[in-house]
Amino acid sequence: MRDSYLVFGQPLIERPEIDEVVASMQSAWLGTGPKAAEFERRVAAYKGVPHAVGLNSCTAGLHLACVVLGLEPGDEVITTPMTFCATINAIVHAGLTPVLADVDPRTMNLDPAAVRQAITPRTRAILPVHFAGRPCAMDELMAIAEQHDLKVIEDCAHAIETEYRGRKAGTIGDLGVLSFYSTKNIVTGEGGMVLTRDPDLARRTKTMGLHGMSHDAWKRFRDDGYRHYDVEEIGFKYNMMDLQAAIGMHQIERVERYWQRRLEIWTRYNEAFESLPITRPAPFAEGERHALHLYTILVDEQAAGISRDQVLVGLHRRNIGTGVHYRTIPDMTVYRQRFGWDPAAYPNAKHIGDRTLSLPLSAKLTDQDVEDVIQAVQAVIPR
Ligand SMILES: *Cc1c(COP(=O)(O)O)cnc(C)c1O
Repeated sequence: MRDSYLVFGQPLIERPEIDEVVASMQSAWLGTGPKAAEFERRVAAYKGVPHAVGLNSCTAGLHLACVVLGLEPGDEVITTPMTFCATINAIVHAGLTPVLADVDPRTMNLDPAAVRQAITPRTRAILPVHFAGRPCAMDELMAIAEQHDLKVIEDCAHAIETEYRGRKAGTIGDLGVLSFYSTKNIVTGEGGMVLTRDPDLARRTKTMGLHGMSHDAWKRFRDDGYRHYDVEEIGFKYNMMDLQAAIGMHQIERVERYWQRRLEIWTRYNEAFESLPITRPAPFAEGERHALHLYTILVDEQAAGISRDQVLVGLHRRNIGTGVHYRTIPDMTVYRQRFGWDPAAYPNAKHIGDRTLSLPLSAKLTDQDVEDVIQAVQAVIPR
């Protein structure tokens, strides 16, 4: 057994971002500035999208996305029960009403047929989450959106490298939102970014993310003279700091190298677990690129002779940190109370949520770490 604890989701931090953060500290420009702008340019170039707005989290980005689309209070947004609470909270904080549709049991993503059934006269938007990094059925979802005149916000917290039929996730709907939280594929500690092809949505996202102040208000303290700013709308304080961007602008340069490393780990896990009585992630579909954010297995107590929660405990005892992505949204108390949601109404999500377990899948893992995970899983789950 390994002697140190393997923390789940540890980022790989390298010399260039350490030096860049130190340079920011020495320049004493910590807040939003040239590095945030440079990070936005690099992400926009990587994603092939004209506009990217750096923010202090993906949650903030999802909230702004719901705000800038100009929806009315009580308008309904259809999303997935197989997501992090931030997706739902963003909708609620924008004054909108979340409506859940069940997932496809294989892809674990929103099932377009379930989305169709969830549409009411008040539906105004769909908020798909590219779960684990696997692309949603965007052609079908965009067709539904077109037919019913709905906006589409892509939650790309897992999906920076995701591609769907030649298009990059986050550039297919009206807005896409990335996360650079410490466990995500590239990191800034806390951080997020909104992507869009629409210059007006980009401008409004930027304005609403900085108090509603007129564009480029962050430049007001520069050496080319004081400029007055105007306040155009009642906004939020969601801007990304240069300190965060100092990390991200180097991380984005390695996004493909890190993906390659996770592909090696993914492939090794797939081989090693072939004969175990568990469900491995579904194979990749033709024409799709998975971002390999989460390697999730399903542990069915009937089939495996051990429950998911017992496996979590067993791995923890063997010094392997794991994650659960996710117990379903209706399994969380507040949503049941507020919206009356019943987990049983989303049986595919419920099936996954009760069985899923995520193994470490970070570019930081050494070959030995990966073998330690495999040995621990094989020891805990009887063949
Ligand atoms: C991590 C995550 C978020 C929130 O990202 P933050 O940057 O931490 O705000 C939103 N949605 C999903 C699916 C996530 O995994």
